[in-house]
Amino acid sequence: MKDFIIVGLGLSGASLAYRLEKEGRSFMVYDDESQEASRVAGGFMNPIILKRFTLAWKADEQMSKAVDFYGAMGKDLGKNFLSPLEIYRRFSSIEEQNNWFTAADNPRVAPYLDLNLVKTVNPHIPSKFSFGKVLNTKRIDPRDLLESYAAHLAKKGLLINESFDHDALGISEDHVEYKGIKSRNIIFCEGFGLLNNPYFGYLPLKGNKGEYIIIKARDLDLEVGVKSSVFIFPAGEDLYAVGATYSNTDKTPGPTTAAREELIEKLRDLIDVDFEVVHQVAGLRPSTIDRRPLVGKHPDHENLYCCNGFGSRGILLAPMISEELLNLIDTGEELSPEIDLARFTKKWYSKV
Ligand SMILES: Cc1cc2nc3c(=O)[nH]c(=O)nc-3n(C[C@H](O)[C@H](O)[C@H](O)COP(=O)(O)OP(=O)(O)OC[C@H]3O[C@@H](n4cnc5c(N)ncnc54)[C@H](O)[C@@H]3O)c2cc1C
Repeated sequence: MKDFIIVGLGLSGASLAYRLEKEGRSFMVYDDESQEASRVAGGFMNPIILKRFTLAWKADEQMSKAVDFYGAMGKDLGKNFLSPLEIYRRFSSIEEQNNWFTAADNPRVAPYLDLNLVKTVNPHIPSKFSFGKVLNTKRIDPRDLLESYAAHLAKKGLLINESFDHDALGISEDHVEYKGIKSRNIIFCEGFGLLNNPYFGYLPLKGNKGEYIIIKARDLDLEVGVKSSVFIFPAGEDLYAVGATYSNTDKTPGPTTAAREELIEKLRDLIDVDFEVVHQVAGLRPSTIDRRPLVGKHPDHENLYCCNGFGSRGILLAPMISEELLNLIDTGEELSPEIDLARFTKKWYSKV
């Protein structure tokens, strides 16, 4: 009898699996690489929403947890996933510059906004207005983290690379059984794939597609991230990631010409050197109608759980939410009401 089956090895599933492993619990993970959000994510741990200079939900609390979590994970896997990448916001008007100072009046926002604006960050990023530096941000390389962790789990025989077949799941009062494996609990961490889940597919997951282009720009020589109408950050060897797009209508998994053209146009407005597009990636953010995660126990089945709805903030959310969910399962400690999927049960479950 295992303690857990985890379905999905994106940021959600990996955070849960790592916590369980540290606690010496038994588990098995299934992943079919059908969703790409975690692997293509920019990897930014930035508590500030750079459009409005406001603090994202509970983001300052999540930040210290995330730094410790990814730091420890790297140490255990013999890697360093965390890097301190500087981010600058290019202002497009005096009004925006003023908003930056107004935002910094909030003592929770102040630690992240440098009040010493700079006129230039790179000779090839011209601007009529100044740039504001976002302080105390970090970045992880999510692809490296997930591939390293998947390899680690596979070596220990804890990862099965196949699609989880929901029809083959047997549910009893105190355990589940799947293809001969018995487990006390199962946690579904399927990202946008949740829509195919017969147990939790009723939850209002909207999905928001995001795409990045990877460009080569030999003359740019940029060592920081810059956010304007588009975000650009260095990816080594004259390569830069440029993105991301946000689409609520396109739910297809792959890269699109429309996103590529949109990003190229915005990039031309930001940098004044030649570049070529060498790659493009896409993923579906598991966004929700109220912009809060969908976490918790199934309304009818004691041993079925869901850990989803991280939207565009999975890097910061995953360490905190995985901890809350395991506390619920192990000690019965209630989830924060904002993330508890029970908030949708009455209204949504009755429709199924
Ligand atoms: C372009 C882009 C940029 C982003 N940048 C950032 C960023 O800088 N910072 C940030 O915090 N967030 C960012 N995000 C958001 C972040 O990626 C998501 O919040 C997060 O990845 C969601 O993680 P998840 O594990 O819930 O879902 P996913 O990453 O979608 O993982 C779900 C996993 O479940 C697997 N799966 C699904 N169904 C099955 C099945 N039936 N059987 C087996 N396996 C299954 C999938 O293959 C996948 O591996 C970005 C997203 C995109 C698209």
